[in-house]
Amino acid sequence: MLQSSSNKKSTIKKQAESRDDNMPRDRNQNPPSEVIKVFEMAESGNQTGLSPQLFYEIVQQSPLAISITDKRARILYVNPAFESLTGFEHKAILGENESVLSHKQTPIEVYRDLWATITGKQSWRGTLVNRRSNGEAYLAELHISPVLDAEGEITNFLGIHRDVTELHALEQQVRHQKTLIESVLDSAPVLVALIDSERQVVLDNQAYKKLFTDLHGVQPAGLFLDALEQDGLDLKAAAADNRGFWNREVRLDLTGQVEPRWFSVSGAWVDEFDSTAGSYFSVPSAGRRCLLVVASEITALKHQMERVKMHHLRASLAEQQRVQGMREALSGAIFQLQTPLNVIQAAASMLERGADPSRTREILGQVLASGHQAMENLRSALPTELQEAETSVNLNALLHDVLTLMTEDFLSQGVTIDWQPQAVLYSINGRPNQLRGMFMRLIENALLALAEAGHDEKEIRIVTSNREDGVEVLIQDNGPGIPEALRLKVFEPFFTAWKQARGRAGMGLPMVQETVNQNGGVVDVNPAFEQGCQIRLRFAVPNRQRALEEGRS
Ligand code: FAD
Repeated sequence: MLQSSSNKKSTIKKQAESRDDNMPRDRNQNPPSEVIKVFEMAESGNQTGLSPQLFYEIVQQSPLAISITDKRARILYVNPAFESLTGFEHKAILGENESVLSHKQTPIEVYRDLWATITGKQSWRGTLVNRRSNGEAYLAELHISPVLDAEGEITNFLGIHRDVTELHALEQQVRHQKTLIESVLDSAPVLVALIDSERQVVLDNQAYKKLFTDLHGVQPAGLFLDALEQDGLDLKAAAADNRGFWNREVRLDLTGQVEPRWFSVSGAWVDEFDSTAGSYFSVPSAGRRCLLVVASEITALKHQMERVKMHHLRASLAEQQRVQGMREALSGAIFQLQTPLNVIQAAASMLERGADPSRTREILGQVLASGHQAMENLRSALPTELQEAETSVNLNALLHDVLTLMTEDFLSQGVTIDWQPQAVLYSINGRPNQLRGMFMRLIENALLALAEAGHDEKEIRIVTSNREDGVEVLIQDNGPGIPEALRLKVFEPFFTAWKQARGRAGMGLPMVQETVNQNGGVVDVNPAFEQGCQIRLRFAVPNRQRALEEGRS
């Protein structure tokens, strides 16, 4: 606020005293007496010895819009900057109340506060919606100071304002952009957090906040970084080299939750530019180095991978057990057959030596008895078949499992799989594990056939379709095929036509046939198929309507 301390006379005042009013006058004329008083008071209050004339010139030439009013805001003086900003010429505005500038959009509370402040002899600063002489609205950042006389009473008000419309528009734009960025981040299906070097979160999105809540107030970003550091990531070095990290798997074990949660975490360094006053004239330099952490939850994917792994493990264990079981059974069989063979051998030598026929009969009786005994022992040594309950089975799903499990085999042997499932396949009644094993065996056979054929283009096609009487599955390969004479024989036990048996005893297709029959189906080699081998399996569907509905679900 401007404070007077003396009533020193000045040239300006003398000039003004010759006039009898302080109302509007021409720019080229001398300033009104009220204004002179203000400058006089300003001059007397300052210790620099500058003249009121100089003060007047300074105000006249100021680039800020300056006005001086009486106690009721009646305008006594405006400078040229005021005129050009508001569009009001001084001639037109002198004597008017400052309210002439009001666009009538500023809330009354703002004016109440303004007046309460300035009449309380305090300076007021705020933003008002003003109008120019042409009616155009602009935002005025206004500073009002009361001018006090020697007794400390208000004589005038000094108003200084500038147009902040553009600044406000820019601020709004920045605010809108921030809101936009925040809503984009919030709708992203990933967790996002920007953290500073102290690991404090500068910015985050809703998904991140949700995990923060799940972790009972522990910052997920901190846990991610701890886990990555334990995993060998040198964050300091990465920050120094501006080296980000991508899709690193992190496991979080949450209190009270049995299952861990898995995240794929990436990070990129972001430099915050120095916006302090000291850096105004320097080339923009990096201020704080922040880390943008982006994580997506992969728990479901991880579980699925785990399931596939377990499935694979189980399948290979089952295969090992099967081989082991067969070896045991066959060793037992060899041992059991050894005794009758020995007796037969003895009987044969006796016959050669012309032994007594009754003695030969006795020996043959022993052979028969030991043969029966061996058979009995072998039967009792047969492992009991695994019991599996019959359930509604979608063969598409089973075949898909098998194809997934065998993907590595296909890739390593360069075999193309042409999978043509019926979009909605009837469900059948069957034993899923048994059927899965059976399909696996048939596809293994196809792989073996392709390996033996040695063609460049190896293809296995699997087609499922709904038929009048049930469901059909075709498993075909473009290998050498099965000659017509062998098409029935291949289903006989211990028959094998592989060039390299590779431990196969010829029980594969008989077991396939047994499984298919047990699951209400039939299997054969399609005689009409000539480009390789096509195994045809047909399964009955007891209630086709229900099967169709189950197939859809
Ligand atoms: P008004 O009736 O003038 O005022 C509204 C409320 O303000 C009243 O209800 C009352 O509470 C309070 N009030 C008004 N006059 C007085 C008083 N003399 N004493 C105590 N309380 C009072 N306004 C703008 O819109 N734009 C400007 O750029 C602007 N510049 C100003 C510069 C100066 C130096 C001063 C002193 C005032 C300025 N004003 C400005 C305020 C202006 O004088 C008006 O008060 C305001 O425009 C509202 O006008 P109104 O006609 O709508 O209501």
